[in-house]
Amino acid sequence: MTFYSFIDKHLLLPTADYLTGRDIASEWRFMQRAERLTTEQLKELQSKRLKTLIEHCYNNVPYYRNMFISLGLTPNDINSRDDLQKLPILTKQIVREHYEELKADNIAVYKVVTSSTGGSTGQPMKFIRNIESWNMQWASNFRAWEWYDFHLGEKILTLGGNSLVKKTKSPTRKDIFDRVIMRNLKRSSADVDDEAMLQHYEALMRYQPHALRGYASSLVIFARYIEKNKLPICPIKVILTTGEMLMPDYRLTLQRVFNCKVYDGYGAGDGGIGAMECELQDGLHISEERCVIEITDKEGNVLPDGQTGYVCTTDLGNFAFPFIRYHVGDMAYIKGEKCQCGRNSRVLGQVMGRAGRLMYSKQGVPISPTMLPIMLYRNNDYHNPTNAEIYNKIDKFQIRQDANGDIQILLKLRNLQESHEQFDYIIENYRNHFVGSEVELVFVDDIPLLPSGKEDYCISEYKIEKSK
Ligand SMILES: [Zn+2]
Repeated sequence: MTFYSFIDKHLLLPTADYLTGRDIASEWRFMQRAERLTTEQLKELQSKRLKTLIEHCYNNVPYYRNMFISLGLTPNDINSRDDLQKLPILTKQIVREHYEELKADNIAVYKVVTSSTGGSTGQPMKFIRNIESWNMQWASNFRAWEWYDFHLGEKILTLGGNSLVKKTKSPTRKDIFDRVIMRNLKRSSADVDDEAMLQHYEALMRYQPHALRGYASSLVIFARYIEKNKLPICPIKVILTTGEMLMPDYRLTLQRVFNCKVYDGYGAGDGGIGAMECELQDGLHISEERCVIEITDKEGNVLPDGQTGYVCTTDLGNFAFPFIRYHVGDMAYIKGEKCQCGRNSRVLGQVMGRAGRLMYSKQGVPISPTMLPIMLYRNNDYHNPTNAEIYNKIDKFQIRQDANGDIQILLKLRNLQESHEQFDYIIENYRNHFVGSEVELVFVDDIPLLPSGKEDYCISEYKIEKSK
């Protein structure tokens, strides 16, 4: 651990927590202690947090209170994750229809942020999170990073969607947190031409980060550029991927080009999911202190370990807008056996459903699948509330690329009477990325499932991915 890391962990982070009303530092210490618990102790801790949440939902959240009453249940009926099966699942559709009733009556006592997600199913959804849920998210990330001998305070260069934040005139609190505490230099992965890559490369060499973080596909585009141009690079300690499926060949490319290990993480703000690879890289350890994950069938019946089903999550940190038994839209299975590393949290096998493969413009320019929902926002700016409002009028979307490379964007609006013209900017956004492709915006009454029965927001029949 460097001197800066030591100061950062023990002085700067607690100070920032104090100034911003967060409490990442103590949640982090708590999670580090929890890592040494036995399976039974860990389950007991999870049950305790779950009971607190359920009690709160019954007393303060109309949607859940009504649900308990109609099922003839009380909070005393839910004592551990095994009892959660007594409750129905929560879907994106339900969240949208019962948005107001999902807010806690006492929401004013929480510090909250409103977010939107397209998730992996192409269904935009607005939701709220309170600061405690964020604390848990960062605490579980920081804990996992130390498994890789990477410490808070060591420098990170991020390539991803978060960096799409428009440059503000004066630095916001979040900017200061990113630069001073996280030492995280964020760069937008929206542009992927050689000029943008050269700028990323120059930033990399200037900044000399210890870690690279971002969407696997964005990092692969960068890696291929470095390899193609035979550019020398500074030593990188670790690569942290998030937000997409990490394809095996993408992991190999990143390892080869940056000469370091690549660790994958699985997270979702809606549902408070956190699961991270450990140093043995044999699946993703669930942050059991932060979320209760069940793998279920479509109706919510829990499936046995080893069987693939829907990821169903309960966020143990979100009291303002609780997610209980929420189907996030991804599929996975829980491994039957414990990880050899000795940690007792359960381990998720391959998570499916998250987008993974790059798409390509007719000129061969790669586009991260994670960019596709972002390109449904005016100016690709999803932090702007007006843009989010328009985006949330979309009920479902699907991006299709045919064998010629042309693009069709299917939109199903929540209100079918809504004017279509207000979505014209989407065509421009897509033309700017898929240069040379015909781009068609089609308004439909419904978006059918794929033949496999899966929901998927991007489908491409365009095959030009031949370069490694
Ligand atoms: Zn492990």
